Amino acid sequence: MRLANLRGRLLVAGRDGRFVDLALASEGRFEPDPQRIYGRWDEFVAWSSGAALGEGQPVGVEALGPPVPRPRQVFALALNYSEHAAEGGVDAPTVPQVFTKFATCLAGPSASVTLPGPFTDWEAELVVVIGHRAHHVTSGQAWEYVAGVMVGQDISARDVQRSGPTPQFSLAKSFPGFGPTGPWLVTRDEFGEGDAEIECVLNGTPVQHASTGDMVFSVPEIVAYISSITPMLPGDLVFTGTPSGVGAYRKPPVFLRDGDVLVSRIARIGAISQTFHDR
Ligand code: ZN
Repeated sequence: MRLANLRGRLLVAGRDGRFVDLALASEGRFEPDPQRIYGRWDEFVAWSSGAALGEGQPVGVEALGPPVPRPRQVFALALNYSEHAAEGGVDAPTVPQVFTKFATCLAGPSASVTLPGPFTDWEAELVVVIGHRAHHVTSGQAWEYVAGVMVGQDISARDVQRSGPTPQFSLAKSFPGFGPTGPWLVTRDEFGEGDAEIECVLNGTPVQHASTGDMVFSVPEIVAYISSITPMLPGDLVFTGTPSGVGAYRKPPVFLRDGDVLVSRIARIGAISQTFHDR
C-alpha cells in the first residue's frame, strides 16, 4: 500500500496506483491529516487490509507534499555506506553516526529548492518511517516497528557543514527544502525487507548508484541502536545515509547550480525530482 499527501490530506493507494482520500474512504474513521495516521498505525493496517477502497484516481506526483509532514524526530546517518566513507577519506564507522535534520527542511517529492550558497550537494537516501514507539528494540524485532519507506534527499550545504572544528551536520542539512521525501510512503509489507537499488541522476547523468544492501548498518541495526538510547516515536523519520558519488568528493568537486534537475530513485518505491534555483 502507498500513502501520499495531497494538499494536507492523506491519500491511500493499493497496487493499482489509484489513490483514494482516506478520511472519505473510511467515512471519517481516520482523520485527513497525513501525520496523525502513525499514532493509529495498527488500527489503520487492520482496517485497510479488509477495506474495499473503491475507485481511486491517479495523482500527479507534482501535486504531492511530503508523505510525513511533521515528524517529531528526524534522525539521519552519516557515513553509512563504506564507499562513501572511503571517498571522504575516512574509515567506515564501527558505531552508527547519528545526527538530526530539523523538520522544517522537509518538502514534497517535486520541491523546487533555493540554493543558499555555492556549495550545495546531493545525497540520495532511503528514508524509514517509524510506525510504533520503539525503545530498546532488538535488530530482530526492528522491522516490526517500521511503517514504511520513502525516497529522500539529504541535501547538504558543505560550507556550513565544514564551518568549524567539528562537522555541523544538523544545520548544514536543514535549510528549507533540504529534506525532500516521497513520492509516497510504501508500507513495509509491500516494500519487503530485501535490498533495493538506489540511484541519483543529475541533469540526466548518473552520479550515485548502489544497493541499500551496501549499508554499513542495516535498517534493523540502525533502529536497534537509536532506540537503545532514545525512544523513537510513531511518524519519526530516519534518513539512512547516502552511497558514494556525492559532489564534494568528485575531482573536481561538483555542486548544485541554478536550473539543475536532480532525480533520486529507489526500486520498489519510485522517484523524487528537485529543481534548484538561486536566491
Ligand atoms: Zn546524508
